[in-house]
Amino acid sequence: MNAPDRGPSADGSIAERERLDLVFTRIAGDLFLDCSGLRGLLIEEALETGGEDWSHWLPMDSALAVPTINTVAPAPFTRSTAHAAGWQWRIPLQHRTGNGHVFCSAHIDADQAERTLRENVEGDLLADPRLLRFTTGIRRQTWNHNVVSLGLASGFIEPLESTSIHLIRHGVLRLIGLFPDRKINPTEREEYNRNLRSIFEFVRDFVILHYKANQREDSAFWRQVAAMSVPETRQHRMDLWQAHGRVFPKDADMFNIPGWVAVMLGQNVTPDSYDPVADALVEKQHTAALADMRARYAETAARLPSHETYLQKVGAWA
Ligand SMILES: Cc1cc2nc3c(=O)[nH]c(=O)nc-3n(C[C@H](O)[C@H](O)[C@H](O)COP(=O)(O)OP(=O)(O)OC[C@H]3O[C@@H](n4cnc5c(N)ncnc54)[C@H](O)[C@@H]3O)c2cc1C
Repeated sequence: MNAPDRGPSADGSIAERERLDLVFTRIAGDLFLDCSGLRGLLIEEALETGGEDWSHWLPMDSALAVPTINTVAPAPFTRSTAHAAGWQWRIPLQHRTGNGHVFCSAHIDADQAERTLRENVEGDLLADPRLLRFTTGIRRQTWNHNVVSLGLASGFIEPLESTSIHLIRHGVLRLIGLFPDRKINPTEREEYNRNLRSIFEFVRDFVILHYKANQREDSAFWRQVAAMSVPETRQHRMDLWQAHGRVFPKDADMFNIPGWVAVMLGQNVTPDSYDPVADALVEKQHTAALADMRARYAETAARLPSHETYLQKVGAWA
């Protein structure tokens, strides 16, 4: 692959170019997309863009993944279960179940993590657990010179909210929105970088919330993450919630109000007071409106087929 344009500030010496020629096959191009995963073949190995490490807020750095046979009808959701130094995913798929233990290696080693995973899966293993290592963070520039990094090449936030594919989609759409002419406009590239950073930071802050707001006392790991200081943006949102239960999603925020409320109330973080506007409501009326809403949801849910029946109906379930 061609050594991408290192730009005017790059070391353009002959020795440097020869070093790159030895490492890469030269392919001419105006714009390169780096989709090489965590390795970042162009954005990092060629351009040495550098990364911003967020592991002081999100210290998970390892995952063990293993598929098992399905033992029950698939649920239409992923189950995440907390463990002493991390959490476990259970993702029902059509022909198998995906399982994984995401953990912090500063608190448990891979052998302990594997034992926990094996003890907590349902159904026979279809393979041996596979160990993955990662660092949570973002490239300093997700678009550097003429290289746009997408997916894991641009950064990684641990999979508690399964956000990577959304971040890829967002990057592709933003790139289309700012697609360059033959000459890249630095302001447009800067706009891309700002936008991608902003959406990565929203995701980061939402994932941090799960750790910061936890009230578990049963392990050093959970006590550590509950006590950590969090980014100012995150703290501001938590303070807003604490005062009157208010949540104001931002434009690029992929998590809407029910998401924030679910994580807050789900972790017993109740606001000090309620929105004073609620005093203007007539209690009898809004109690009746809520009961009506609940009944309609229940009626609709009762009419829907089970997830398994639905999959069979659309022909996906063999
Ligand atoms: C533990 C874990 C759980 C995850 N769970 C989720 C989830 O629930 N939801 C979600 O959206 N995302 C999740 N992700 C992220 C998920 O892995 C990515 O969304 C997805 O894999 C797409 O990433 P990618 O294409 O950027 O990188 P990858 O999937 O790593 O693909 C990069 C590819 O580039 C190839 N490559 C590298 N160098 C070269 C080269 N020189 N020549 C040719 N090919 C090369 C690699 O072989 C690889 O196939 C998870 C990640 C991890 C680590």
